[in-house]
Amino acid sequence: MKPSIHRPTQIIVDRQAIKNNFLHERQLLNDETAIFAVVKANAYGHGAVAVAQTVSEVGVDGFCVATLDEALELRQAGLQETILVLGVTPVQQAELAAQMNISLTVATLEWLQQAIELLTQPLKIHLALDTGMGRIGFTQHDAVVSACEFIQQQELIIPEGIFTHFATADEADTKYFHQQVQKFKQLTTNLPLKFKYVHCANSATSLWHLDCQSNMIRFGIALYGLNPSGTALTAPYELQPALTLQTEIVHIKKVPAGQSISYGATYTSSKPEIIATLPIGYADGWLRRMSGSSVIVAGQLCPIVGRVCMDQMMIKVPQMYPLGTKVTLIGTDQQTNLSAETAAEYCDTINYEIICNLSDRIVRKYVN
Ligand SMILES: *Cc1c(COP(=O)(O)O)cnc(C)c1O
Repeated sequence: MKPSIHRPTQIIVDRQAIKNNFLHERQLLNDETAIFAVVKANAYGHGAVAVAQTVSEVGVDGFCVATLDEALELRQAGLQETILVLGVTPVQQAELAAQMNISLTVATLEWLQQAIELLTQPLKIHLALDTGMGRIGFTQHDAVVSACEFIQQQELIIPEGIFTHFATADEADTKYFHQQVQKFKQLTTNLPLKFKYVHCANSATSLWHLDCQSNMIRFGIALYGLNPSGTALTAPYELQPALTLQTEIVHIKKVPAGQSISYGATYTSSKPEIIATLPIGYADGWLRRMSGSSVIVAGQLCPIVGRVCMDQMMIKVPQMYPLGTKVTLIGTDQQTNLSAETAAEYCDTINYEIICNLSDRIVRKYVN
C-alpha cells in the first residue's frame, strides 16, 4: 500500500534519537561485541531502510530481520552490512539468500541436508538453539554436534553464528533467564566448529544482563527508544523514543447535549460539547481498543469519544480550534507527553505491538 501523503496524519522519526540510543548502547559494550540492529517489521514501524541507513552512518555491524523479503529490501536499497534472517526460511530460498549474501537461521540438520542439494554458492548460516523459548532451534547437544560435523564437511555452508533467544530477559525475576543461560552454555560447549558470532542478547538482555557471554547483540526495541520491560525495569541509560505520531483536526463542531458519536452510539454528550474529527483510525493501527484514551491538542489531553472508526475518530476538545490544529497521539506537545507505553498500558498490551501496528498508510517523515 502507498502511504496517504495527501492526508495530514504522519509518523515523524527522529534519526538522531535512534543514533543516540545506538551510541549509548555502544558505550555500554566492550569493543569486541558487535551490534546488529533489529529492523524487522519495517523497523518496528519506523521504516526499515531509513533506520538501517541511519545506524549504518554510526557504524552498525549488521541487521536482523524476520523474513528473507525484509532482508532483500535492505540489500536492494544498497546496504552492505551482514543481514541475518531470524525466522525459518523455506529451504527452497537458500540459493537466493546465498546469491544476495544474506545469512539464514538454521534450526534443523535436515534443513542443511536439503540446502546442500540446492546451493551453488556459499551460504552463511546461524544455528538457532532452543534453550527455553520453545520457538525454533536445536534442543540437544548431540544434535548440535551433528549439525556442526555436517557443516564442517560442506564447502558451501559458512558457520557465521550460533545463538539463542531468551523468554524472560525483561523480567525482574531472573530464575528462568539463568536456566536458559545454563542451557546455552551446555549446548555450546565442546563443539567441533568455531562460529564468528555467538549471540544471545535482545535489547532486554543487553540492558540488564551484560554478563551473558556473547560477542554480538541483537538490538531491537531499545534502538527505537522504548523500554523492553515496559515500566518494570529501568534502563541503564535514558532511552530516547524516536517516533512521533501526529495528525490534525479536519472537522470541528459544537454539538448539543444528547448527541451521540460514532458507531454503536456508545457515547452521548451530556451537555453542549465541542467535537473534533481526526483522519486516523484502526486501519492505521490506532486500535479500536484506544476508544476512550486521550490525545494531545495544544498541550492538553483530550479524550477520544465514541468508537475509533476505520479511518477517522472523534475527540472532545475544550474550545473551538482552527482546522489544521496539530494533534499528537504519540509524542510531546507543550510538555505534555503520550508514549507508545501509555497507549500500550491503556489497551493492555506491550509498546512493541503499538508501534508495529502503525500501518503503511501513514506517511513516515525523517528529521535530523
Ligand atoms: C525480535 C527479536 C529480537 C529483538 O528483540 P528486542 O526485544 O526488540 O530487542 C532479538 N532476537 C530475536 C531472535 C528476535 O526475534
